[in-house]
Amino acid sequence: MIGFSLSEDQEQLRARARAFAETEIKPAAAHHDRTGEFPIEIMQKAFDAKLMSEGIPKEYDGPGLSNLDAALMTEELGAACMGIGTCIMANSLALAPIILFGGAAQKERYLRPHARAFRIAAFALTEREAGSDAGAAKTTAVRDGDHYVINGDKCFCTNGGFADFYVVFASTNPDRGPLGMSAFIVERDMGVEVGKAEDKMGQRASNQVELHFRDVRVPTENLLLKEGRGFQVAMGTLDRTRAGTAAGAVGIARRALEEAVKYANERVQFGAPIVKNQAIQFKLADMAMKVEAARLLAWQAAWMADHGVRQTKEAAMAKCYAGDVAMEVTTEAVQILGGRGYSREYPVEKLMRDAKLMQIYEGTQEIQRLVIAREVAKGR
Ligand SMILES: Cc1cc2nc3c(=O)[nH]c(=O)nc-3n(C[C@H](O)[C@H](O)[C@H](O)COP(=O)(O)OP(=O)(O)OC[C@H]3O[C@@H](n4cnc5c(N)ncnc54)[C@H](O)[C@@H]3O)c2cc1C
Repeated sequence: MIGFSLSEDQEQLRARARAFAETEIKPAAAHHDRTGEFPIEIMQKAFDAKLMSEGIPKEYDGPGLSNLDAALMTEELGAACMGIGTCIMANSLALAPIILFGGAAQKERYLRPHARAFRIAAFALTEREAGSDAGAAKTTAVRDGDHYVINGDKCFCTNGGFADFYVVFASTNPDRGPLGMSAFIVERDMGVEVGKAEDKMGQRASNQVELHFRDVRVPTENLLLKEGRGFQVAMGTLDRTRAGTAAGAVGIARRALEEAVKYANERVQFGAPIVKNQAIQFKLADMAMKVEAARLLAWQAAWMADHGVRQTKEAAMAKCYAGDVAMEVTTEAVQILGGRGYSREYPVEKLMRDAKLMQIYEGTQEIQRLVIAREVAKGR
């Protein structure tokens, strides 16, 4: 059986997310883009509206949204401001390893409080010398009685400046590369130092910082899964969250298409609206096709995750295709708006800057293609 219609609950969720995005996010987007101010009040409102920490299961007092629900919601956030969308999404990225791989006590200690009150978490995998090659991370965790002692430095940690706790990837056996990596829940109060924040071209509302670990003592009960399973935790988490990232990219592209259609109908040159030109019509047709195709890939990957079907390939396809579509469609939108497209007075230049990140974070497009190719070569 196959179907593309949403349930009544999903339609309501989408309408709720769209209304929130229109009233709370869209009007604030330009301000946060200009100033780089962290949108903590909007995040608090998103939490109150059950549009944040959405994947925490109901048994831990969370909204318990499915991956498809989250994709519907994230598209709306992306259409309003992906910088703010990333702040909200990055929290889910940090909670996902606990939802997917945490033990009962870890879920009780870290999920329930996040479901009951507004709090922020962050995912710390990347290091200066270990980005795409995440398994080459140099941060270490050495067992000392009933604690691990963590030393090292992370970077590009989204929400890191505002988080209560971090899911940190560190090597417990550096000789084994990725197989020596382990994942830990590290509370900020355990001694994490927050370093320099990035100054970025787009998604400027979001916060990315360096984190420094100097003899940070973490209780052994904060180890996720087992020693040596950290790479599995990281990759399993990203497999799961990539459909949401793809949906955010669809949101950016959809908004760019909407802005381009509106402008093409209004702008008169040579005595007629520019939309009357076939050259503009074909651009709009290509943009619309790409948005639809990217959305279907995102929904497919999310649906597969919800149904327990292996979706490594499909999640990578969705993230990669939707990220590329966001870049292409926003670039075309700037072209359709001409000089105004290049001006900060109109929203499309921001969409184009925001779109670029969708090709970089949660694994670059090149890494997604490697993942897809590996799966395809295995006949999957
Ligand atoms: C705004 C922002 C937010 C982020 N948030 C987080 C976060 O919350 N947590 C976190 O841990 N990380 C985060 N990251 C880090 C992000 O995931 C990495 O930047 C990304 O994985 C790429 O790593 P890198 O920047 O070191 O690039 P590199 O790995 O150095 O790559 C440079 C270029 O080489 C290409 N390349 C590398 N290896 C190969 C290969 N084998 N084949 C072909 N091409 C290759 C890459 O695709 C890229 O084009 C964030 C990054 C940014 C910019």
